Amino acid sequence: MRVLAVANQKGGVGKTTTAINLGTALAAVGEKVLLIDADPQGNASTGLGISRQQRKTTLYDVLMGETPAKDATVPTALPGFDIIPSDPDLSGVELELGHAPRRSYRLRDALETLRVAGDYTYVLIDCPPSLNLLTVNAMTAADAVFVPLQCEFFALEGLTQLLRTVELVRGSLNPALEIQGVVLTMFDRRNSLSEQVAGDVRAHFGSKVYETVIPRNVRVSEAPSFGKPVLIYDLKCAGSQAYLKLAREVVGRERERRLQAA
Ligand code: ADP
Ligand code: MG
Repeated sequence: MRVLAVANQKGGVGKTTTAINLGTALAAVGEKVLLIDADPQGNASTGLGISRQQRKTTLYDVLMGETPAKDATVPTALPGFDIIPSDPDLSGVELELGHAPRRSYRLRDALETLRVAGDYTYVLIDCPPSLNLLTVNAMTAADAVFVPLQCEFFALEGLTQLLRTVELVRGSLNPALEIQGVVLTMFDRRNSLSEQVAGDVRAHFGSKVYETVIPRNVRVSEAPSFGKPVLIYDLKCAGSQAYLKLAREVVGRERERRLQAA
């Protein structure tokens, strides 16, 4: 089981879109995937068409120690792809946990039984757009951070801040935390700034940047309002094909990483 925190403290860079659609694409190529919606806004849950009824137990209950992670999972429309949904209660977790023991390890502890059970090969955590206790829990639970980066002017600046947080978490809570990779999102071929930012990011992060680039594609932005991943909404569109390609690249690189580690 590989746990990836999909993180970037900037809002609107494509975290949720990537969590939903990379998750779907990984399941489509045969992986067993769990998406954890760690944003109180619940965009990942809504985008996957999870009803109010299906949100009776959420990540909130898991972090408060009231429900085992396994019991909070809900199946999505796609076999092999489950979600632990969120709701607005999740925003209270920071206050409610106060100085509770192991407050930063809540998610890690909760995922331990899933790790042992081996039901999932990939767990994607959709992080909120801030570096709060929820994101710290995600990074503490994760094997690696998966960074969506929008091709825009201040992209690199935001990344420096994120990497500092990764260093902090590595230095105290989770020494094994890695950077899984950086994916460029909302890439616009007609915009020279997109090309320029992509070049800068590759110069800076080298092979950590996936070759696959996610194009700006209207079908990708329409899909959530139908409660569907874009791969189910319109499999043939450029966005779906890009997420499928990304999933294959992620799986291929992960195999290589394991071979090297063995
Ligand atoms: P975050 O979770 O980082 O805040 P989102 O995934 O919610 O970002 O994306 C922000 C907005 O951009 C959403 O409205 C989403 O539909 C849109 N969006 C994301 N990726 C794409 C894309 N590849 N093409 C077009 N729109 C996109
Ligand atoms: Mg989001």
